[in-house]
Amino acid sequence: ENFHEKLEINRKDEIGRLARSFNRMTDQLMQNDQSRKEFISNVSHDFQSPLQNIMGYAELLGNGPLEEEDRRSYATIIKNETNRLSSLTKQLLLLTTLDQLNTLQKQEFSLTQQLKDCVTTFRWQLENKGISMSLHLDHILYRGDESWLMNVWDNLLTNAIKYNKPNGEIVIEMKENVKEVMVKISDTGVGMREEEIEKIFRRFYRADESRSMEVGGTGLGLAIAYEVVEKHGGEIVVESQQEKGSTFSVHLPKM
Ligand code: ADP
Repeated sequence: ENFHEKLEINRKDEIGRLARSFNRMTDQLMQNDQSRKEFISNVSHDFQSPLQNIMGYAELLGNGPLEEEDRRSYATIIKNETNRLSSLTKQLLLLTTLDQLNTLQKQEFSLTQQLKDCVTTFRWQLENKGISMSLHLDHILYRGDESWLMNVWDNLLTNAIKYNKPNGEIVIEMKENVKEVMVKISDTGVGMREEEIEKIFRRFYRADESRSMEVGGTGLGLAIAYEVVEKHGGEIVVESQQEKGSTFSVHLPKM
């Protein structure tokens, strides 16, 4: 009798567990469906506004005589909006590729050299904004996906420049211990409010300040960086203070 009671309880529990896990699954499915809808609506919206601008200014250019100055500024707008569409398309493609990626292409490479190479591609941007940069890099070899990780540094550095102040500073530090490699990128930029920090890794999220700063962006860069680091089993930790600056620390476990 006792045994039967136990069995009964176990079975009930089993059903309870099944029910709970079924509920969780439905929740997840709903959520996925919801975020897919949100994603598509964001994409459409982000494509619409540059397209409308391009259409509008192309029409102005085609309609009769214009002052030289206007002609030039309309052409610039068209060029900028085309660039925006181009980087949006590239990043969307990256995200889709990342979503479908089951295994990373891991190989050992010099993280130090990779960071140096990445920094080099930003040289003229740094000069343009008068931003100084210092590097404190140990010599580190890491086993990971080289091209996806390049994307992480590229996105973090792009932001450290974009959201920096003129004549600001960027410090890049790289360290390792037995368990992990840590890459820390600090800037002296506009920073973020506490409640924004948890949202910045979401696809398409851009803080209001960034929108009003009129620096171009898609809100996809950090989403890509986050997912690449997560796929390596690591995490990105953010510290930030408004008007003071931000620090992004990438932790990559050695495996
Ligand atoms: P975006 O294309 O807008 O730069 P990201 O995904 O790279 O998109 O970043 C999302 C948002 O996080 C940015 O719009 C900005 O508000 C905030 N952010 C990212 N990096 C920094 C930084 N270094 N300093 C201040 N804010 C930042």
